Amino acid sequence: MFANVKASLQAKADLITKSLHQDNGDTFVNEMSKQIRAKYFDKQGNKKKLRKTNTDLFRVHDSGDLFSSRYIAAWIRICEQFPTIRFWFPTREWKRDSQLPHLQKLANLKNVCIKPSAIYVDEPAPQVDGLDAGTSVYTSKAKAEQDGHFVCPATYVKGKDGKILATCQAHNCNLCFIKGCKKGIAYLAH
Ligand code: SF4
Repeated sequence: MFANVKASLQAKADLITKSLHQDNGDTFVNEMSKQIRAKYFDKQGNKKKLRKTNTDLFRVHDSGDLFSSRYIAAWIRICEQFPTIRFWFPTREWKRDSQLPHLQKLANLKNVCIKPSAIYVDEPAPQVDGLDAGTSVYTSKAKAEQDGHFVCPATYVKGKDGKILATCQAHNCNLCFIKGCKKGIAYLAH
């Protein structure tokens, strides 16, 4: 990982931890909401149209997870402020019994998809009460389909240059953001 990316992730983690301890997450909620508002909306409060970002959708966490009940509570406050954005959270925290009720509370919001991730490669996507259909990583497309999954096109469909078209927008796909989706999703490892 590049040093500047690592430093930025660490700064973000520090802000979250400090805020959860010192002001019950208020600073984090305000900062995150401010960033979403600035990126997704213009000054009049209308959704922006961006070339690289679908401003109806927000994938939470490139790294990290919903690690505590306080952190989940902070995200509930953020998602409630943006009913016109659909949020998708991948998580492995469903494995912890103490976390599940908090995840279910967040998943209760109409604009939130909580997708439990499988713990092991080639393991079927988990189905967890109160959460949306899960996701998994597979080493074989045939095996993933045999196990009943939709296989994410952004992990295997290539463009003319032979490179994988690795964005949801390239495939006009938003399955991970569809609430109530019952189909497990597999990402192909490569
Ligand atoms: S399944 Fe669709 S929405 Fe989910 S990551 Fe792949 S392309 Fe994106």
